[in-house]
Amino acid sequence: MFDTLTRGFRQARNRLAGLTELTAGNIDAALREVRLSLLEADVEIGVVKAFLARVKEAAVGRTLETRVKHAGEVHQVSASDHFIKICHDELEAMMTHEGDEIAWADSGPTGIMMVGLQGSGKTTSCAKLSRYLEKQGKKPLLVAADMQRPAAVEQLKVLGESLKIPVFNIPGESPVAICAAARGEAKRLGRDVIIYDTAGRLAIDEPLMQELAQIKDATKPENVFLVVDAMIGQDAVKTARGFNERLSIGGVVLTKLDGDARGGAALSIKEVTGAPVLFTGIGETTDKFEPFRADGMASRILGMGDVVGLMQDFEEVVDQKKAEKDAARMLQGDFTLEDFLDQVRMIQKMGSLKDLVDKLPLGGMFPGGLPQDVNLDDRELVRIEAIIQSMTRLEKSDPYALVREPKRVERIAKGSGSKPEAVSELVQKFLFMRQMMSGLGQNMGLMGKIPGMK
Ligand code: GDP
Repeated sequence: MFDTLTRGFRQARNRLAGLTELTAGNIDAALREVRLSLLEADVEIGVVKAFLARVKEAAVGRTLETRVKHAGEVHQVSASDHFIKICHDELEAMMTHEGDEIAWADSGPTGIMMVGLQGSGKTTSCAKLSRYLEKQGKKPLLVAADMQRPAAVEQLKVLGESLKIPVFNIPGESPVAICAAARGEAKRLGRDVIIYDTAGRLAIDEPLMQELAQIKDATKPENVFLVVDAMIGQDAVKTARGFNERLSIGGVVLTKLDGDARGGAALSIKEVTGAPVLFTGIGETTDKFEPFRADGMASRILGMGDVVGLMQDFEEVVDQKKAEKDAARMLQGDFTLEDFLDQVRMIQKMGSLKDLVDKLPLGGMFPGGLPQDVNLDDRELVRIEAIIQSMTRLEKSDPYALVREPKRVERIAKGSGSKPEAVSELVQKFLFMRQMMSGLGQNMGLMGKIPGMK
């Protein structure tokens, strides 16, 4: 799919073969190869320039470690490996987004307005998204408000029926009126997400933009997602810019990535609009839909999973500085539920908790095994993860919101399939832990001792 780009990066790598150091002089030949392939893949020129400048800045003058232990063996790391890793990280940074894909409403149903040109895959993506959300325990309502394309309403109805997801439409009414009435219908049917399938045109025009702006005003959706066909290359970026200017889109669904896409759109969209690609369409059927993963996409574009994997192991070792910084931050009491979740995931990655404790010196403290009241059930971790993932961004950074507004606790409980008491207990534990850590940091007078901390 990303043949042009992959070829370009390979050629760039060859240019650096045999070198042990990246310098301003030797890197230019490699960057020229990358530049050509990016342009050929339809990446916009401004984006290309910004990318190359960042890679150069990151690469030149970097002290290179030359040995890395990977899968138990010591490898020699060359300048070209470093170069590829830097490209990977910059590609990922260009496409990545942090936090949830969807902004959830604090109360009432969450609105997702889908916009895009005719033929982009909007109607299909509405159905795909509804299926995806239902699998996550949501209850979506589809709203057929594309009155422009004659078959769109029928198409959505058929898709909705096959997925057993209700589709709302009022024959003869205007798209704005239909969308405005959808909220009432969602409440009546007990649905918690409303997905609006709006009209498209073959190109951006004023009447379309006016209609969409009116729908946005009338429904005040938490999310406006632009559906873009990846196969149309640079035009996709132009389209994104146009829609964004009028509707300020929050994210992009990039469709037809299974096709003959040259990859340029995936790379340029966030850079140009500020709105990240959140989901991808990878086939015609409703199951061919995935959240967008910037690191996966970066690896596919480079086509060098092996080198990147090797370098990642390497960085993990070198990245202890970050761990130190994180520890310092936590000891200052600046510890969020996201950090907490990171820790939980890290523990999960290390394998079963019980095995782990057995291996630790700590195990020796409990000659008769772990005391019963130390509950280290792995399932517990999965539950914690589900609860934290059901929180909004605000809740994760300010857990007191849950103490102030108990309704939030109920919503999270429902979303994560746990009891409200379990949610409250987790938050209390977390707040306690944070307080402890902050106390610990102060008592130890650590702030001045950890590098980089004042
Ligand atoms: P709309 O006019 O934007 O609502 O577009 P549709 O949803 O009707 O899609 C237009 C065409 O693209 C249809 O033939 C879809 O089956 C096809 N399509 C949509 N998404 C994808 C995708 O991710 N991959 C592929 N291969 N085809 C897609």
